[in-house]
Amino acid sequence: MAEHLTGTVALVTGASSGIGAATGRELARRGAAVALVARRKERLEQLAAEIQGEGGKALVLDTDITDQRQAIDAVERTVAELGRLDTVVNNAGVMLLGPIVDAPTAEWDRMVALNLQGLLYVAHAALPHLLTAADSGPRNVADLVNVSSVAGRRATPNSGVYNLTKFGVNAFTESLRQEVTERHVRVSVVEPGATVTELADHLREEIRETAMRVFTDVEKLEAEDIADAIAYIVTRPRRVAVNEILIRPTEQV
Ligand code: NDP
Repeated sequence: MAEHLTGTVALVTGASSGIGAATGRELARRGAAVALVARRKERLEQLAAEIQGEGGKALVLDTDITDQRQAIDAVERTVAELGRLDTVVNNAGVMLLGPIVDAPTAEWDRMVALNLQGLLYVAHAALPHLLTAADSGPRNVADLVNVSSVAGRRATPNSGVYNLTKFGVNAFTESLRQEVTERHVRVSVVEPGATVTELADHLREEIRETAMRVFTDVEKLEAEDIADAIAYIVTRPRRVAVNEILIRPTEQV
């Protein structure tokens, strides 16, 4: 039976849309106070109002996590205003597909800055607090969940730099898991397949149609399906560490 998150505090990055918004909503429903991190403040405020309307607690942190100072501030404000930090969902990410040859390299910079550096900044700032929570908390365990992708397990054409970032997330997750698991900070990776969100909206138009064609006949996952997997991980009893969840639409090959 799932444990409840009452009395715990969770920080979710990329909480203004898609998987992050669904995860913020789900963790709040399970009793966590949630810090909602992303750049679009209005979206975060809408979600916070919704959570508060259902009796939950939410803190809006409009933050660009590619700026290390802002990432640190988001973590510190969470602890200052919500009192502690038990759970971090490192979800913010961008997918800019396309061939490597003649690629606009600014797209590579954006993916590396967010999918890797932003995730690292948040993890680094949060870890001392997660270690404290694992020592002295309502559950005596803490969670860092990194959202990777099927693209973190399998490289495909036109996805080279996105693959690079997500393979990197998987490697970092496993190394950090080994470093802190004996101190009861569980480090996990979730690897979604095609999920209905705003992710593909950022693709160049000429790329979008070709890249997404492969999924035309696939019934895609909903963001809530991934939020559910994340909630499963962070509600396990202290002795159970779910290291990895790969979750695809049934029709995705
Ligand atoms: P969305 O585009 O809907 O969400 C991305 C989120 O990241 C937004 O909330 C966005 O908010 C936030 N974000 C972007 N830039 C920054 C920044 N600089 N600082 C802080 N937050 C930022 O996509 P998804 O929900 O699909 O993506 C979530 C994660 O899931 C990503 O890591 C993605 O790679 C992964 N994933 C998604 C899949 C899918 O099919 N949808 C499949 C596999 C993995 P804002 O713009 O307000 O800052």
